Amino acid sequence: MQNVSVIGAGTMGNGIAHVFAMNGFKVNLIDINEGALEKALKTIEKNLDRMVSKQKISEEAKAATLKNLSTVTDMKVGVKSADLIVEAATENVNLKFDIFKSLDANAPDHCILATNTSSISITRIAAVTSRPDKVIGMHFMNPVPVMKLVEVIRGYSTSNEVTETVVELSKNLSKVPVEVSDYPGFVANRILMPMINEAIITLHEGVAGVEEIDSVMKLGMAHPMGPLQLADFIGLDVCLSILRVMHDGFGNPKYAPCPLLVNMVEAGNLGVKSGVGFYDYSGGRGNEVVASYFKK
Ligand code: NAD
Repeated sequence: MQNVSVIGAGTMGNGIAHVFAMNGFKVNLIDINEGALEKALKTIEKNLDRMVSKQKISEEAKAATLKNLSTVTDMKVGVKSADLIVEAATENVNLKFDIFKSLDANAPDHCILATNTSSISITRIAAVTSRPDKVIGMHFMNPVPVMKLVEVIRGYSTSNEVTETVVELSKNLSKVPVEVSDYPGFVANRILMPMINEAIITLHEGVAGVEEIDSVMKLGMAHPMGPLQLADFIGLDVCLSILRVMHDGFGNPKYAPCPLLVNMVEAGNLGVKSGVGFYDYSGGRGNEVVASYFKK
């Protein structure tokens, strides 16, 4: 396996491209938005510089990594010699179906089609292709160059051979693969999202304020970040959409998103990316509680 195409050059796509290129793969980073590609290359370079300054990699390794990277806006061109494709485009089910139909039509027959989706069924995505045995979830965590876990998700039809290839490949990227089955939320979000939702319900019911809830979980459970701050970092829209997938997929009311989360998303308070969530990021500090609604 030599050639990897990464679809989507956003938060996750640039990190995935970085990690593959740093491990000697030829990476074609593909995005419909030229600006996103330029921004991704700048981010990768900045992150490599940080690794050089921390003496984690050499200047030569940085140069070799950048040499392994190319970018293109035309997906058909970008996947034509791929051995593996990792799709990390926007989390939208119809978009993913369109992308996978096109990948299936344009990538070589042997190519494995992986998706970094947080919540969409691998089995459903695989079903739009003519090679469901070669479709798999490769769920990297943010920030990709730092986080060790890759959740490897077997769809209903994913073959043993493809699963083993992706597990070995993840190890070759110095990641730790964990194999899981394809059910809503997989494992990471099935456990994380109910915790975040419960933290929001606790706030909504006035049991405690933002800082109190986050402090209990940081100091009491040794979590590096409280659940409300983490939700701000993930994006409240992303949290809501994952909870909805689990609520629909299991039909169990325990996954119903808290009405406060729904309201915040409808108001455009999405967390770090919009500048305001449970905390206010507009001053660049990111640790000031949005006082008006959340003080007890
Ligand atoms: P993002 O919004 O930062 O980036 C998505 C990119 O996809 C954008 O640059 C957009 O231009 C591009 N795109 C949209 N349509 C495209 C198309 N047809 N072809 C090529 N590129 C296209 O999103 P993100 O946060 O990087 O998330 C990407 C995927 O990773 C999603 O499936 C998400 O659920 C998953 N994920 C995200 C995180 C996270 O913390 N952000 C963590 C794990 C998994």
